[in-house]
Amino acid sequence: MPTSQEGVKLDVTILGSSDAFCSGGHPHATYLVETRQAIVLVDCGPTVLLALKRQAVDTASIDFVVISHMHGDHFAGLPFLLLEYIWERPRTRPLLVLGPRGIRDRVWALMHALYPDIIPDTLAFTLEFIELEPERPATIADVEIYPVRVPHQDEDVSLAVRFMAGGKQLLYSGDSPWDDRFINLARGVDLFLCECTAYDEPMGRHIQWTTLKPLLPRLECRRLVLIHLGREMRAHCAELGVECATEGLKIRC
Ligand SMILES: [Zn+2]
Ligand SMILES: [Zn+2]
Repeated sequence: MPTSQEGVKLDVTILGSSDAFCSGGHPHATYLVETRQAIVLVDCGPTVLLALKRQAVDTASIDFVVISHMHGDHFAGLPFLLLEYIWERPRTRPLLVLGPRGIRDRVWALMHALYPDIIPDTLAFTLEFIELEPERPATIADVEIYPVRVPHQDEDVSLAVRFMAGGKQLLYSGDSPWDDRFINLARGVDLFLCECTAYDEPMGRHIQWTTLKPLLPRLECRRLVLIHLGREMRAHCAELGVECATEGLKIRC
């Protein structure tokens, strides 16, 4: 039955909600974004195939991949995804991978390190890379992508990404310490997937709960879900009063 929501679709499925350590036995950072015209894999941790198949996502359905930054827990699943497309679920249609500058060389270096002996001379599908420039929007199918550089790395670029489709908006923090720009970026978005790796002890360049908690009233997003959860965070999820991600959670923005 037609509704006022017809034509609007921005669905997010949590496929992997852990930090780099698979804390609590959860897969690495991997999310699925579905719009009217595209199925997008957002980050691609080394456990990507496990994460996709546990949620019965057909690997062939993925139209393109967006990588927030080139830490292993966010992009080291790409060789396994490519392996899937070469051998297990042969792909003929193009695959597009969007990510920070240098993405193409890093992915191929990783591929050659992991499977030097079985990469075919030519792929049966076109593998195309697009470098995302901070604060320069990109549009693929009906998905508008707005990347913002976050202070998670110095040499390499780490991105938070805002996705827009059909008038709905998702903000994905990627990995980042707290950055006041998240307040503006999150204003009015339907969903903010915000990393919160640590609980009350600082852990690298990441957000910790005790930093985030007093800032919550300033986050004017419709729904906040914490992701990239470390061991201590996972242990405290039930008592926070804020939603924590777990695999299989599907959110209709
Ligand atoms: Zn990470
Ligand atoms: Zn990282």
